[in-house]
Amino acid sequence: MPGPVLPYGRQTIEDDDIAAVVEALRADFLTTGPTVAAFEAAFAETVGARHAVACANGTAALHLAMLALDVQPGEAVIVPSITFLATANCARYVGAEVVFADVDPHSGLMTPETLAEALARVGGRKLRAVLPVHLRGDTVNLPELAALAGGAGAVLVEDAPHALGSTMSFGNVAERAGDARHSAMATFSFHPVKTIATGEGGMVTTNDAGLAERLRTVRSHGMTRPADADPWVYEMAEPGFNYRLPDILCALGLSQLKKLPRFAARRRALAAAYETALAPLAPIVRIAARPAWSDPVLHLMCVLIDFQAAGVSRRSVVDALRERGVGTQVHYIPVHTQPYYRERYGALDLPGANAWYDRCLSLPLYPGMADEDVGRVAAALRAVLGR
Ligand SMILES: *Cc1c(COP(=O)(O)O)cnc(C)c1O
Repeated sequence: MPGPVLPYGRQTIEDDDIAAVVEALRADFLTTGPTVAAFEAAFAETVGARHAVACANGTAALHLAMLALDVQPGEAVIVPSITFLATANCARYVGAEVVFADVDPHSGLMTPETLAEALARVGGRKLRAVLPVHLRGDTVNLPELAALAGGAGAVLVEDAPHALGSTMSFGNVAERAGDARHSAMATFSFHPVKTIATGEGGMVTTNDAGLAERLRTVRSHGMTRPADADPWVYEMAEPGFNYRLPDILCALGLSQLKKLPRFAARRRALAAAYETALAPLAPIVRIAARPAWSDPVLHLMCVLIDFQAAGVSRRSVVDALRERGVGTQVHYIPVHTQPYYRERYGALDLPGANAWYDRCLSLPLYPGMADEDVGRVAAALRAVLGR
């Protein structure tokens, strides 16, 4: 009899999270209230950035970042092909053209080599931004990518929804994902599968006060209040959006953020258990390669499976795992192969992205998993692969 299926990821909502939302519902402001600023301040402190600007979701965070940089139609933005659609789409929202970078086939990450190769394909366009993605929680080589982007007249915008809590060290300097030390901005999402959840929700972090101010203005219709004007006066220099995150959801975010150390420790423990449990399945199954500087809080448990050597299709593995109560997901279909982008830019040859896609599978990973669940997943995978 099939039992419940472990999803590849899910939120952890506890009684005090619910109480925090109820309290926000009884307060004076449901949307732009004091909890927005409190959540932003706590988030900035958590990741070590000077400013944090809350917004409607991770896609809005990316769009706001493009607007804050004033990226213009026809300018270029470099995006890795292995990411969620939104990383590329945000460039199109402002009329910019996407140049897809390849990724390392073992880590799925944009590297200095794949960025250099993409830079060579920008052509005559003005390059404004490079958007590396900290896939599954392992971080990219930020100092080297920033140097390459800077040399081409562009800045980094980190798409960091997978990396909340991740740390890295370049040289002897310990850094937190989202501290925006090497980038203009970093973006986050609080979608239920991400490390903390608000339902829908997002955040942009930056150390640049000017960018933070622009993000806040564009987040709310492009409205500003001149300092010495009458109390009812607002001005709009350019149309913005309604990308605000309501007080109710900021209350949930603030409550969830307090649990980040516990959630992170649990994710680290589960990832370590997976390493041990999956080791006997090498070389058919390998955990995605970890860069030397990376000390991740994994958002996704990405493994690479040599389906060809195992003599099975991914579809049959996915189906058989599901029958054994193990949900999986694929992160991601290379964005450059989506019909819209293929139509716009033609067929691109990005062998690293294709090789990653051919083998990747994300196994269940979330704080609410039981210790035994890791063994259950590994045993199911072993059985399904006939090992
Ligand atoms: C989740 C995610 C997004 C989009 O976030 P939403 O809150 O769902 O809009 C963008 N990029 C990456 C890498 C993501 O994982």
